[in-house]
Amino acid sequence: MAVNMYYDKDADLANLKGKKIGVLGYGSQGHAHAQNLRESGMEVMVAELPDTANYKLACEHKFKPLAVAEVVKGADLILMTLPDEIQPWVYKNDIHHNLKAGKTLGFTHGFNIHFGQIVPPDGVDVIMIAPKGPGHLLRSEYVGGGGVPCLVAVEKDHSGKALQTALAWGSGIGGGRAGILETTFKDETETDLFGEQVVLCGGVTELIKAAFETLVEAGYPPELCFFECMHELKLIVDLFYQGGISYMRYSVSNTAEYGDLTRGPRVINEESRKEMKKILHEIVTGQFAKEFILENSANRPVFNALYKRDYHHQIEVVGRKLRRMMKWIDSKEV
Ligand code: NDP
Ligand code: MG
Repeated sequence: MAVNMYYDKDADLANLKGKKIGVLGYGSQGHAHAQNLRESGMEVMVAELPDTANYKLACEHKFKPLAVAEVVKGADLILMTLPDEIQPWVYKNDIHHNLKAGKTLGFTHGFNIHFGQIVPPDGVDVIMIAPKGPGHLLRSEYVGGGGVPCLVAVEKDHSGKALQTALAWGSGIGGGRAGILETTFKDETETDLFGEQVVLCGGVTELIKAAFETLVEAGYPPELCFFECMHELKLIVDLFYQGGISYMRYSVSNTAEYGDLTRGPRVINEESRKEMKKILHEIVTGQFAKEFILENSANRPVFNALYKRDYHHQIEVVGRKLRRMMKWIDSKEV
């Protein structure tokens, strides 16, 4: 099933002319949306918490940050670029009663709408522009004349113009230069959660740890195991990024390629595929969302315990030491 694609030619910035855009939160996404939209000729207001680093940054960028409620009162299009787990609280306290019919609420990720944590009043359009990259890339690409591909979705179209509003927003941040793919809040939310749980964060982390532990238990030096199981992953991911699986296989040795083709399916096997289906089921039924929401409201006991356990994992201890030897890495310690 092919998706609809939109470009600058399909978007009319006039849909946002004379309207005020309120950007809530000046973080990774917020700072990029606010600046790109302003430079695309739109009137932008920013909300930030006083005395924070991002408040100062917004001031340096010549915005005058206000409280969330003030921005919501004054804006026609309100962009929810606050952390996902904070959005429902801020929504309840400062947004809902200021959200009059005729306004539009915009999201960059669908979680809170799809799982019913935010329920906007009737008469309000609910849309999404989800850039497929971090805010800093969104900003640097825009400045350089390019753009990052985005997803667009419409959840509520009271005005009959919700898609046009969303495309103007997407085009204003540079997304229309690269392409804007049409989707739904449901599909964006479910595939995003699945990707980060099964591949990007959960799957890869566990694969690295299991392989490292296997080698260390067999008596190999942890330093070597760190290089083989974690460090070199970047080289492989860069090849995927540039040319997919085929280009990675073209580039690595024939020995590596034969090992990949014959051993890979034994590591990720029928058992793993069954578990992936279970994980998807938990996402689709809302079981994961409920667990995460309850976890947050209980002050994150499981989250914190598991995070601490891995923070002290041997591969992390060895990795911190070895990264300090590689001066070209912009190494980070949290
Ligand atoms: P960040 O944590 O980078 O930014 C959130 C900002 O909101 C911070 O500056 C924070 O301030 C500020 N903030 C928090 N509470 C309040 C408040 N009550 N009033 C005003 N400002 C407040 O978030 P992201 O940009 O990463 O995420 C925003 C949205 O974008 C999420 O829905 C996320 O899923 C989505 N998204 C993120 C992507 C990414 O790459 N980061 C990619 C695509 C979508 P402080 O730092 O001082 O707490
Ligand atoms: Mg994602």
